[in-house]
Amino acid sequence: MPDQSTDIHKRKLRMGMVGGGEGAFIGAVHRKAALMDGQIELVCGAFDEVPERARAFGAKVFIDPARSYGTYQEMAEAEAALPAESRMDFVTVVTPNHVHFPVAKTFLDAGFHVVCEKPMTVSLQQALDLREIVKNSGKVFVLTHNYTGYPMAKQAKAMVAEGEIGEVKKIIVEYPQDWLLTRLELEGVRQAVWRTDPKQSGPAGCLGDIGSHCANLVHYITGLEIEELCADLTIFAPGRLLDDDVNVLIHYVGGARGIFHASQISAGEENNLKIRVYGAKASLYWAQEHPNYLYVTPPGAPVQIYRRGHDYLSPLAKLATRLPPGHPEAYIESFGNIYLGAAASIRAAESGTAPQERLDHPGVEDGVRGMAFIETVIEAGRARKWTPFKIF
Ligand code: NAD
Repeated sequence: MPDQSTDIHKRKLRMGMVGGGEGAFIGAVHRKAALMDGQIELVCGAFDEVPERARAFGAKVFIDPARSYGTYQEMAEAEAALPAESRMDFVTVVTPNHVHFPVAKTFLDAGFHVVCEKPMTVSLQQALDLREIVKNSGKVFVLTHNYTGYPMAKQAKAMVAEGEIGEVKKIIVEYPQDWLLTRLELEGVRQAVWRTDPKQSGPAGCLGDIGSHCANLVHYITGLEIEELCADLTIFAPGRLLDDDVNVLIHYVGGARGIFHASQISAGEENNLKIRVYGAKASLYWAQEHPNYLYVTPPGAPVQIYRRGHDYLSPLAKLATRLPPGHPEAYIESFGNIYLGAAASIRAAESGTAPQERLDHPGVEDGVRGMAFIETVIEAGRARKWTPFKIF
């Protein structure tokens, strides 16, 4: 039974979910992450594009049958018609990419806040349209680039901002995986089927799927904007329609240089996202497969290892942790931190109070920047030359 208090500061936020049904990957992660801090409860959903499967899955996760909807359109209409004390507060969109825009638009138009998976849309134009819709709605829009939710990514951001590594000169970011080395999409693996289909994934394969995280993480940690880039996109698996490997050289505004690669055909790799930031005074190194450690190295001195959970960390890094040092936290908690930020933003928006702590979550501007990055990389790959990056 949802908490029916009318004071948004005195009750859990009510979440609905679109996507994330039987056999889906990230929806289950979102459900665990959103609920882990007791701030949010799941009250409704349209979990699958097939109405019978959607309702059947709702029963599996113990949703009130009256609020386990066959379609997201039905859900938006029915939830908007409920009294304020039981109506959902926000929707989480965990469908394949091509469904993000129509679902986000439907729920923003119906007066709900939105948490949405990346890449935000399937084109830059859609991203720009969504930005207008968000602005006009006055609602909160959160984009789940979850790697920004890790405490040590927050620590890296704080150290760059405070000048601890000096002026940033070079960034190397990489995200190799191997799971699309063969044509898994022909074996009916659902996550591979839609990710390799331009109609569902958008114009990018690996670039949109994991390259978008790399670009977002660099911007989050360094704040740098791209000036121009050149790119090489490859389809290694014969017959596949979208890139499964991408390499990019980047010139940042102000003179920093970047090397970027993302790959889904690199044998033996799991989720080997790594970032190195070289400054005038020291370098930073963070690897998401060992996420509780941040390595800081000045020239001619021993490596310093910053560890999650300690008092010497920045305020946001400390807020983003739940366990004492040495008890590992990782992927699900990183989403949990995005949800804590979303909850704080939604409570502030609903009550007209000043924004509080925990608000450093990605939003619609990051989604626009992400889609501009994807389209510029594709354009540069086709043109085979340095291509300017436009900030929208
Ligand atoms: P998935 O194929 O495992 O799940 C997609 C779900 O959406 C399925 O349950 C499907 O039935 C449902 N769906 C599709 N169309 C729908 C519709 N019209 N209405 C209701 N439900 C619908 O996909 P996934 O791997 O979970 O990816 C989903 C999204 O999450 C993608 O945008 C992906 O890029 C993103 N993702 C992000 C991360 C991350 O680290 N942040 C990781 C994985 C996936």
